[in-house]
Amino acid sequence: MRINRTKKAKKVLAVYQSAFGFHEPYQVIVDGTFAQAALRVKVHIAEQLPRYLASTVQLLTTRCLISELDTLAAALKDRDQFLGPKLVLRRFQNRHCGHAKGCSAAACLKDMVGDSNKHRYVIATQDPQVMQQFKHVAGVPIITINGGRLFLMRPSPATQEHLQQKSEEKLGVESHEEKLLRKLNAVLQRQKQASASASALLSNKKKRKKKKKSKKGTGTTQSSSSSSSSSSSSSGGGGDTSAKQKKKNKKKTGK
Ligand SMILES: [Zn+2]
Repeated sequence: MRINRTKKAKKVLAVYQSAFGFHEPYQVIVDGTFAQAALRVKVHIAEQLPRYLASTVQLLTTRCLISELDTLAAALKDRDQFLGPKLVLRRFQNRHCGHAKGCSAAACLKDMVGDSNKHRYVIATQDPQVMQQFKHVAGVPIITINGGRLFLMRPSPATQEHLQQKSEEKLGVESHEEKLLRKLNAVLQRQKQASASASALLSNKKKRKKKKKSKKGTGTTQSSSSSSSSSSSSSGGGGDTSAKQKKKNKKKTGK
């Protein structure tokens, strides 16, 4: 089962690799909701995520993502519920997000990713708002926990649109290249044909010259030799055939 899931995840990752330049180690930003869900279903992120993706990963978080857990704990007056996820996030590398005053997790992640996700972050979240906001940015892989397991989501509509545009551009380039190639081939073929006909003309002229020379120089000797040979053969062979015919005639008359 895991092999299948890993294969699927690898296929999705391959899309991000080829179209957006993602590479190992994948930089995964983990938020509080994901850490909380992972604890609930006993998924050890640092152990199981690299195995699921069959790749090396770098687990990251930000100060805003950690501090949001404090805010939630204070709001819900439930410190214990958010202590575990906070400890999980604290183990990950803290990536500088530039929010000195702090902001919500969704806003922080939005800024980290920006318009084009140029740092090629993978987002590990369980927050529907975060998932929704990245549907509109191409090239943002999202990992969630689904049915108690890690799950790399299919490329978003924005990502798919980007892929289609890219493939169309590629086709356009190919057709342009094809046109150029066709023109080049046509030119080359014309050159070949021209050179071939020129060489044919030259060789014909040479042949004619040779023929003329041979007729002038060796014409008499050739004709004499041929006539002598033919006469000799005709005399010998002819004699044979006439004798055979005579025999045949004799047989016919005898019967
Ligand atoms: Zn931040």
